Amino acid sequence: MDDESAARKIRIHGIVQGVGFRPFVYQTAVRHRLNGTVANTSTGVTIHIEGPSARIDNFLSELAHKQPPLAHVIEVHVEPADLNGHSDFTIVHSRTGEGPATLISPDVSICDDCRRELFDPGDRRFQYPFINCTNCGPRYTIIDDIPYDRPKTSMRQFAMCAACQNEYDDPQSRRFHAQPNACADCGPHVSLRTHTGETVSTDDPIGEAVNILKQGRIIAVKGLGGFHLAVDATNDNAVRRLRRRKHREEKPFAVMSPGIQEVNTYAAIEPEEKNLLLSSRRPIVLLNKKKPNPLAESVAPGNRYFGVMLPYTPLHYLLLAHGFSALVMTSGNMTDEPIAIDNDDALKRLGNIADFFLFHNRDIYLRSDDSIVRRTDGSNRFLRRSRGYVPMPVFLKIPMPPVLGCGAELKNTVCLTKGKNAFLSQHIGDLENLPTFEFFTLTIDHLKRILGIEPEWIAYDMHPDYLSTRYAEDQKRAEKIPIQHHHAHIVSCMAEHQIDGPVLGLSFDGTGFGMDGAIWGGEVLIADHAEFTRVAHLDYFPMPGSTSAITEPWRMAVSYLYGTFGERMWALDLPLLAEIGETNLRIITQMIDRGINAPQTSSLGRLFDGIAAMVGIRSRVHFEGQAAMELEMQSAEGDDGIYGFRWSPGPVRRIDIRPLIREITGDITSGISRNLIGGKFHRTLIALFTQLAEDLRRETGLDRVVLSGGVFQNLWLLSGFIRALERNRFTVYTHRVVPTNDGGISLGQAVAAAAIVRKGP
Ligand code: ZN
Ligand code: ZN
Ligand code: FE
Repeated sequence: MDDESAARKIRIHGIVQGVGFRPFVYQTAVRHRLNGTVANTSTGVTIHIEGPSARIDNFLSELAHKQPPLAHVIEVHVEPADLNGHSDFTIVHSRTGEGPATLISPDVSICDDCRRELFDPGDRRFQYPFINCTNCGPRYTIIDDIPYDRPKTSMRQFAMCAACQNEYDDPQSRRFHAQPNACADCGPHVSLRTHTGETVSTDDPIGEAVNILKQGRIIAVKGLGGFHLAVDATNDNAVRRLRRRKHREEKPFAVMSPGIQEVNTYAAIEPEEKNLLLSSRRPIVLLNKKKPNPLAESVAPGNRYFGVMLPYTPLHYLLLAHGFSALVMTSGNMTDEPIAIDNDDALKRLGNIADFFLFHNRDIYLRSDDSIVRRTDGSNRFLRRSRGYVPMPVFLKIPMPPVLGCGAELKNTVCLTKGKNAFLSQHIGDLENLPTFEFFTLTIDHLKRILGIEPEWIAYDMHPDYLSTRYAEDQKRAEKIPIQHHHAHIVSCMAEHQIDGPVLGLSFDGTGFGMDGAIWGGEVLIADHAEFTRVAHLDYFPMPGSTSAITEPWRMAVSYLYGTFGERMWALDLPLLAEIGETNLRIITQMIDRGINAPQTSSLGRLFDGIAAMVGIRSRVHFEGQAAMELEMQSAEGDDGIYGFRWSPGPVRRIDIRPLIREITGDITSGISRNLIGGKFHRTLIALFTQLAEDLRRETGLDRVVLSGGVFQNLWLLSGFIRALERNRFTVYTHRVVPTNDGGISLGQAVAAAAIVRKGP
């Protein structure tokens, strides 16, 4: 006889639904010969366990040390319970209840077991494009309510056949309670359509799609989080045709390859990058191009990187199993709109781009773009945190009230908080048109529902014209708290490192509305969560033509030159000025002189643009930041020192960049290469702000520096600042969990607003 019988109630919080947690508990309980129940609840997983107390202890310790691969346990509560006299262990039906939201798993790429079955002619799911199990498959994109059970997903319309149901009910099966479980007899299917929507009659739609791709044609493929536009990445004509039709001139396209071996033919892969490519999250990873390489030049023109991902759905594996080394897989949208997710909507919006459509009939409830990650300085750096990562929360240090952060205008995401969790949404896009705004409101409503959060406070950007600002103002039930853009950047980085202030914050980006109405972007702040003081910034220069100066960097170049040289500008022997011509120059200088449509800016992003135009890299861009990015890529290490700079005395130091502009102009006229000028410019910025940080440390004693803002996507600056500041004994914090660009702003807004609420009036 064992020792005395006991009973325990165990409540587990974390990512424990849709990841095989209940079968794991079941199998563990059975192995320890214990009885009771396990259930999903809206708060997580609840276990009632009874049996000899020594065995219960063993059970608990196994629970603490072993977990299914996709589970992420945050908290476990164990309490005594009454013996109910269970005679076995069972998984009971889900029940709903009040309490903190459970965590929903992100979408997970197909696992190795399922992939083996997919290509096993003896398996009953041989070549079935929707094969999945408890360890893999769609999650976030197919859920529209909690708890995570089949009737709450877009699988509800597919009744399982007897064979699938048996697996679903069998605790020994890999598909025990796998909610999207299906097979060719009972589950979703693919179909091939023409660009006008007629069904192409074929027994093998995927094989036919492969033939079409091999002819160099474009297929819109419905995936996990939305449609992709696919085309053979080695066929330059085909890729160019896709660019023309999509109105996407130069922004790089992502590619998908069947495996590491194929990626190796065109890109260099570091070990950490390989792990990232193969991880179940399957992001797009930026990899250095090999030269020469077999991919079409038009895939990523003028870029040092390829954005590469491996297949993450069975459908992708089937498409790529026919000899492609890489397919372009770019978001299925017209530039600037959200990706299409419905078949009908895709036909309407992509009918002029794609030649054919590969549809399937498993609905996507919430679109989710591919995530984009780069490895630098030993960490993942997100350019976009979306599919595969969302809705995994950012874990915070202190509990939060329910706040909604509305994000910024570009690369928008939203953020909802509850307890110690900040839930960042998937990438929503640039909030500049109605379809994107609708996606924004839909995502907020959806997240509120599946996370069970009703925000009492809404944090938003101070820019009066942003659609997100209008949205915030329209919400009646919550209190609104505006958060300055660059403060939000710094707080987002503090939040992911779980640090409080005060810190020195270097907040460098393209555009953010300042407290004085100017456009900020080269800011040094002393900040904590609730407040900030602006202690230094790049001196103001006008942006002639306002937003036109973003797409036409030559305007910024003129502004810097005119602001530095005044009337002497006309005598400068610069190729750019000759290219612009006197008429255009007169228009711009008049705008500046009269202050018409020429807002003031301290943006470092604009300075990068202006210098890129001055050295002749480009005077017009196809996407924000393109000129700055090319300046980074064309810059070379040299050893000829740095350019001059100075700043006015505090409390708000104005950094005078006229010495820098003057010396760069001199270098251009004396024929120094743009690569060397670019390198020297980078070194100058690092030296300047490191000196400034030392100055501020002497004054304030602060020795923690937080780096945030879109400019830190520039790896030269990111690594350079980390090295220089650490050499000078600063502790440096950089983004590893959320993007340094505006995709991280919503987190900073929510955390800052919560601190303001906590502090009270
Ligand atoms: Zn699987
Ligand atoms: Zn079936
Ligand atoms: Fe920003």
